[in-house]
Amino acid sequence: MPPDRSPREQAEAAEIVDQGATITAAEPMDHNRTGEVDAAVAALRDRIADHAAIAGLGTVSEEPRAWRAVADDLADRGPADLADRLDALVGRVEQPYPSLVRLRFRLEEGLDFVPGQYVRISYAGEEPRVYSIASPPSDEELELCIRRVPGGELTPDLCDRASVGDELFVRGPFGDEFTLQAPSDRDLVFVATGTGVAPFKSMVDHLFETGLDEFEGGPRQVWLFLGSGWADHLPYREAFRELAETRDNFHFVPTLSRESFLTNWAGETDYVQRTLLKYLDSDAVDALPDPYAESAAAEPAVDVDARIDPGRTEAYVCGLGAMADGVVEVLEALDLPEGLVRVESYG
Ligand SMILES: Cc1cc2nc3c(=O)[nH]c(=O)nc-3n(C[C@H](O)[C@H](O)[C@H](O)COP(=O)(O)OP(=O)(O)OC[C@H]3O[C@@H](n4cnc5c(N)ncnc54)[C@H](O)[C@@H]3O)c2cc1C
Repeated sequence: MPPDRSPREQAEAAEIVDQGATITAAEPMDHNRTGEVDAAVAALRDRIADHAAIAGLGTVSEEPRAWRAVADDLADRGPADLADRLDALVGRVEQPYPSLVRLRFRLEEGLDFVPGQYVRISYAGEEPRVYSIASPPSDEELELCIRRVPGGELTPDLCDRASVGDELFVRGPFGDEFTLQAPSDRDLVFVATGTGVAPFKSMVDHLFETGLDEFEGGPRQVWLFLGSGWADHLPYREAFRELAETRDNFHFVPTLSRESFLTNWAGETDYVQRTLLKYLDSDAVDALPDPYAESAAAEPAVDVDARIDPGRTEAYVCGLGAMADGVVEVLEALDLPEGLVRVESYG
């Protein structure tokens, strides 16, 4: 596409094409952690039983769901978070594996798109669904990052059955709103949860491959705040970690709400929008309205030699509706310049 047009103009001009495609990779991105989770559940049961005995609540049966009531009863007499831990671990045991897959395919004709756009795919006669493109335009194949929605029409098939050599039908690209702003000296802040990171993988790869992470010779700071429950549910975490190690101006801040129930996770654990507040520059912190000041005062868990100046930042938010609304509320409180917040919400 002609590079003299803004990404949005390029997206508007992109021709929508129908074509066949062949799957070249269909791989889990999460891990089967059943053994690890079972051990943590057993240890938690022992803790609940010990506290129940001390509190005189009697013995605890073998069934995890039965411990829930005991953990609740213990809330004001023992560690307050036993019930939350139990819910999180049992929820994880019950989650089918894989719950997150990477799907790559070779298109019959190829596709002209700009990062942030999405395609509609049809597979195995199921209802078609749309997915953000996770690969950059330089990639000869297209990659999607797909989360299983239990009971859903298409994603269980994609997670359990999609295999190398299978045929897909692809229509797109779609979407001209959720694209990068025209190049400028502004810094970039990307905020996502789970598979909401897919368009940002495409955008971040594209920025660094094409030198758009610089403007007139100076670096732009590029931030990615990515949230999930568990470490292995953060798509592309290794690739982003490696990029942060090799590029001084890329800052990757993962935040995991449940991982510390399983491992000695010492990183961020809060909601993405509250985590972001910890990395603001001091002028922005001073100007923050009350409900946010406490989060901003907390010590960052990631050692980054840069801070976010909202006055010279553009932001991109992608994820499920409630999460996106929460992030936008915080960005509005930060008074980002008009029109510089772009949002893609997955319903
Ligand atoms: C622009 C856009 C980009 C998208 N990009 C991605 C992407 O990169 N990766 C990705 O995994 N998904 C993405 N989605 C969501 C995707 O289009 C499907 O909605 C999702 O994969 C569920 O499809 P399904 O057929 O399995 O479930 P459905 O049969 O459509 O849904 C079954 C039930 O689950 C609910 N549901 C639907 N989606 C979700 C969800 N995500 N979480 C919880 N409940 C849900 C529905 O309301 C319904 O009640 C995107 C959506 C949009 C609009």
